[in-house]
Amino acid sequence: MEWRDKNDNFVLEQVLKLGDSDNVHRLLDSGCPVDVNIFIQASNALDQYSGQDGKEIMIKLATLLARQRSLSASDLAKPGPMSASQSSYTSEYDNLYKFSSLTSGVAECLWRAGFRDIAVETNGQIPLWEHVIHLKKNIKESIDLISWFAEKGAKLDSVHLKFQAAPAHLLIRRLADAALRLRNQFEGIELWLEFPFVMDIILMPTQDECNCHCSPGGCTPLICAIQEAVRNSERSLWSDYADTVTQESMEHNRFLDEALDSIYKIAEGNKQSRPWIAGSTLRGLTFSALNLTHTCCYKVGSYANGYNLEDFLTQEDIYDIHFSESRDIKFLDSLVDEFERKWEQYKSTLSDFIKEVWKPRMNGRVSKSSEMNDIEELKGIIEAGVVLHPLGPEGSADEAIF
Ligand SMILES: [Zn+2]
Ligand SMILES: [Zn+2]
Repeated sequence: MEWRDKNDNFVLEQVLKLGDSDNVHRLLDSGCPVDVNIFIQASNALDQYSGQDGKEIMIKLATLLARQRSLSASDLAKPGPMSASQSSYTSEYDNLYKFSSLTSGVAECLWRAGFRDIAVETNGQIPLWEHVIHLKKNIKESIDLISWFAEKGAKLDSVHLKFQAAPAHLLIRRLADAALRLRNQFEGIELWLEFPFVMDIILMPTQDECNCHCSPGGCTPLICAIQEAVRNSERSLWSDYADTVTQESMEHNRFLDEALDSIYKIAEGNKQSRPWIAGSTLRGLTFSALNLTHTCCYKVGSYANGYNLEDFLTQEDIYDIHFSESRDIKFLDSLVDEFERKWEQYKSTLSDFIKEVWKPRMNGRVSKSSEMNDIEELKGIIEAGVVLHPLGPEGSADEAIF
């Protein structure tokens, strides 16, 4: 049997695209050579096949690949100089769990064929990162795949050296951002909170290694969702979508309110068992209302794809920001203590608490604080000998933040 047609194209490649499962099996059974690329192409062509047919093809392909890998591994073990094909051995199979069209079903075929390298790092990233960064259009497929990785032992809480966050944090941040800003790009995004796997992550107190006063000791996945919900912008920070505004402002505001309501409900439902949830929610809201600067993984979306190193804050940058905001950071701490105390005694819902206790306190504070800032600034300017002209009403400082 010829493996290539007269134009030097792989016959198997062509047949796979046609959705002709009988011929695919015939080729594979006759010893047609396969490689990682063919495997990826087959998984891209799966919608041409019925579920069962597709599964059988992928299992056969994965088994052939595994056989081939053990042959090249025994080749590798032979003494003598390495051939070019031997040295490319590692990189070829490293891509198996990383390619973008991987689904939990295809991953399972690889696993059953004996490929266990779900934790192999390429460029400092395990394959799971790839799938958290590049969410699939169909959210259920993404969540199925990510939970498959977790079931097989991939670590959702291992912190990335550059991002400072772990896959758990990035996943929740991505889902919240997509639900708030990219609803018509992702299917089923309104349902993400209903997946038990996702809810389990939100309830995890696992902290990343960020250094930011929005979440002392590191962000939790929940605080990542809060950061997204209080970031009052219609634009996604994910570089792929940074230029896309996919919804009307009115709609956007409604989504923000809904998101915060869901977070309040989670906090309320866990008031006794996980008091930290309400605590971090109140801190996240207060941090944002005081207009403090995030030094955490907040902006991860704008550099996750291309590793824009200039976007990463250095330890020195972080120190400078914390130093220049130290007065407000102290105030944040005392406000959060106050809110947590009041919330513990509070008898109604968290959303009532926000309306009746948090907002009035924050609005009162912000106007006073800006007045004070203005007065201090004025004193400084007068001391410097500058002549001032009266400001118009736009200079007024008592604008409330909400
Ligand atoms: Zn932060
Ligand atoms: Zn973080």
